[in-house]
Amino acid sequence: MKLKDLYIGLDLGGTFIKYAIGMADGSLLYHNKKPSLSDREQSEIFYNIFALIEELKQKAKELQGEIKAIGFGSPGAINFDEGRLIGSTPNIKSWTDADIRGKIESKFNLPTWVDNDANLMVFAEARQGIAKGEKNVIALTLGTGIGGGILINNQVYRGDHFAGSELGHMSINFDGPRCDCGGIGCIEQYASAPAMEKNYEKKLIMANKSIPDDLSTVTLFERAGEREKEAIDTINDTAVYLGTALANIANIFNPAVIVIGGGVSAAGKIFINKIDAEMRRRAMPPSVRHLKVLAAKLGNSAGMIGAIRLAAEMYAKR
Ligand SMILES: [Zn+2]
Repeated sequence: MKLKDLYIGLDLGGTFIKYAIGMADGSLLYHNKKPSLSDREQSEIFYNIFALIEELKQKAKELQGEIKAIGFGSPGAINFDEGRLIGSTPNIKSWTDADIRGKIESKFNLPTWVDNDANLMVFAEARQGIAKGEKNVIALTLGTGIGGGILINNQVYRGDHFAGSELGHMSINFDGPRCDCGGIGCIEQYASAPAMEKNYEKKLIMANKSIPDDLSTVTLFERAGEREKEAIDTINDTAVYLGTALANIANIFNPAVIVIGGGVSAAGKIFINKIDAEMRRRAMPPSVRHLKVLAAKLGNSAGMIGAIRLAAEMYAKR
């Protein structure tokens, strides 16, 4: 009997590592997540990853398949040719210069490709998500930070030395607050989840209202739904900040779709529409005439799906 060709996809984050087994078309046959042990030594993080790959190899047998390749998503700048991290990444302290491909290939003898997690997200959304079939797509992921992915002419654009696509560090204010990256007035300082929470808190204090113990973007959007003025004002502010950033993106790239992903994007259509309107107020008309701003479709699975499709496409090309 012929065994099915299967691919492994892993998506390493600061809290969880998501892992899956799937087909070349990105359909997942099994997926799960476990703590990523991001506060441990690098060797322990790898040991954890190896155990998950062993688990998936077992699954492959049950599925009567054969694993052909591994795709891996990681935060940070990734040297795509070498499959290793360039320097450090803030949420996984020990991950500095991690030789991801080297370690996995020497342990499992399976060809492995590694990419930045936001690159995999734009790749997955363009291959089979909300921007399916589009060749020029930009993705922004809104969360604790703001990540960016760029697809040009159907290919992920990684920069000359793999350090591009940092859309969260586009400045929208030359005179703004200093960012952790060293820049000034980065969009991340205005529209990340912590920045939204801080803005909301300030408005509540100004209005002499109490600050909820469980303040988060979830409570913020809930309260906006209940028509609370401070919550609505915060969301309107954020839409102006993001609309400014999107106008820059539209003018520079003229993409077919800008995908908004990450936790905050779950806030829904009203938020996305406000961002879209602000972008159109600022961008050059030809840049946005055919442009759609859409919420991501693949959610938390985008990284795993992107990793699997990357592995399959690279394996077929090698
Ligand atoms: Zn920055």
